[in-house]
Amino acid sequence: MLESVEELDTKKFISKIMGVRHFSVLEHVSSTFGVEGISRVASHQLVRHRLASYSQKSQRYVTEKDPFTYIIPPKILENEESCKEYEQFMEESQKLYSKFVGTGIPAEDARFVLPNAAETKLVMTMNARELMHFFEVRTCNRAQWEIKDTAKKMYKLVYIQASLIFQYAGPACVSKGKCPEGEMS
Ligand SMILES: Cc1cc2nc3c(=O)[nH]c(=O)nc-3n(C[C@H](O)[C@H](O)[C@H](O)COP(=O)(O)OP(=O)(O)OC[C@H]3O[C@@H](n4cnc5c(N)ncnc54)[C@H](O)[C@@H]3O)c2cc1C
Repeated sequence: MLESVEELDTKKFISKIMGVRHFSVLEHVSSTFGVEGISRVASHQLVRHRLASYSQKSQRYVTEKDPFTYIIPPKILENEESCKEYEQFMEESQKLYSKFVGTGIPAEDARFVLPNAAETKLVMTMNARELMHFFEVRTCNRAQWEIKDTAKKMYKLVYIQASLIFQYAGPACVSKGKCPEGEMS
């Protein structure tokens, strides 16, 4: 008869699983995240991770508010002139979007003039195996700042819940002791 996990030392059990790389066991643990305050730039990168489930705010059925909210990258924010130009561009985009919606063009078509900077929100479920992979590539210094920030916040949340598993997570230089990025490292 199989021994139940409760009868074993959980710490030893997980450490053994990680050591022998029986990662399929991690697929029984999953986490669901509500993500908001990110741009469509970041969400596009998130949904490239195929072994996860997503529900994202629709730009077809939900008409954006006037003014729509958008993300300003820190490097643009710290440059006064660039920031002003950026905001002007968002206003122009807003004007055209609202004009189109006002003339009866459906939101699904009007949205073509919205920028990647537009804020979005989504719910995402990933199992622990996929999260380990996600943290490896998205907490890496090579990852784009916005998805890296998101990944780090997600990491902090799951670490509180399951530190025995996620103590092994992190960018490859930490979790595997070696950077796979070669000369781009
Ligand atoms: C720094 C960085 C730069 C990037 N630059 C670009 C870029 O310039 N252009 C671009 O298009 N993308 C880019 N990406 C995205 C990248 O190519 C992946 O699409 C993304 O990271 C999702 O990861 P993944 O495909 O490994 O894994 P996931 O989809 O999260 O899947 C997890 C793992 O499951 C396995 N798997 C999943 N699906 C399959 C399948 N169909 N067949 C076989 N095995 C599978 C693989 O082992 C995979 O690693 C970049 C990512 C990073 C982190």
